[in-house]
Amino acid sequence: MQPSCYVTTFPCPDKPGRLLLLATRRCAVMELSDELWQRMRDGGEMEEEERETLQRLGVLVHDREAEKEEMRETFDRINRESRHLSVVAALTMECNLACPYCFKAPFRGEQTMDDAIADLLIRRMSERMSQGLDLTVDFYGGEALLQLTLLKRIATALQRAALEHGVTFQFNIFSNGTLLTRPVVEELLPLGLAAVRLTLDGPPDIHDSQRPFVSGRGSFAAIMENIHAIHDILPIDLGGNFTRENYRRFPELLDLLIARGIDPARFKAVGFSPVVPRADGSLAGDLGGTPRGQALNH
Ligand code: SF4
Repeated sequence: MQPSCYVTTFPCPDKPGRLLLLATRRCAVMELSDELWQRMRDGGEMEEEERETLQRLGVLVHDREAEKEEMRETFDRINRESRHLSVVAALTMECNLACPYCFKAPFRGEQTMDDAIADLLIRRMSERMSQGLDLTVDFYGGEALLQLTLLKRIATALQRAALEHGVTFQFNIFSNGTLLTRPVVEELLPLGLAAVRLTLDGPPDIHDSQRPFVSGRGSFAAIMENIHAIHDILPIDLGGNFTRENYRRFPELLDLLIARGIDPARFKAVGFSPVVPRADGSLAGDLGGTPRGQALNH
């Protein structure tokens, strides 16, 4: 038996020698010893009962390649049965914020979609729309709005293709909210903008320490200003990242939104996620959902 391809582990800082394991195919979470995990990876001896339990929970599999093939078939079947295609398009890994928990920081640099890839995306998506599929694209980053010109070019072409093939096209944006001004939203709505997912990590002192601009300046005021300016014309899915130290302060954020004249009932969804330890013990956050509420790291 081998560990599943779809297993991930996290350290237990409070419990040396133990780790948390997440088997994503079965959504099974368990705490186990480093020693057992190492034994699993080495294909070492194991009690029968232990092996059966780990197999049932999707931690151990007979054949990793067969497991991957099974997953491919599952997605193929779902795609065949659905008349709706959802795509995530990462426009850039660049960002104007410098959140200490950002898991994309190592990918900064030259990681921006070029024209050739954008053309390929447009061509492939147009082909699928010509087969009768409605299309939703989630534009993602980094900060996707740093590539506003590219985003508009892609959206314009896909909207034209949707019209040509008699299907629908809409898009959502994952944004940190700093560049999402009302003029930008007004420009994007006619191109198919349906919703935005943005992030506030709590009241200003917490948010600004967790999500500063690259310059070090806090970003709370700019984001709040933009939410106020757009909340009546665009559905907003509000996310936030919390730690064990500050999760109790989210109600203050909701009170601040109300005080600013933003009715929380106007939000499409509000959901907060924990900042989780990486394998090396440092913290990773912004693991929110898409504007449609599916789980996806941002
Ligand atoms: S977590 Fe999001 S907003 Fe923060 S630096 Fe990373 S990409 Fe930018």
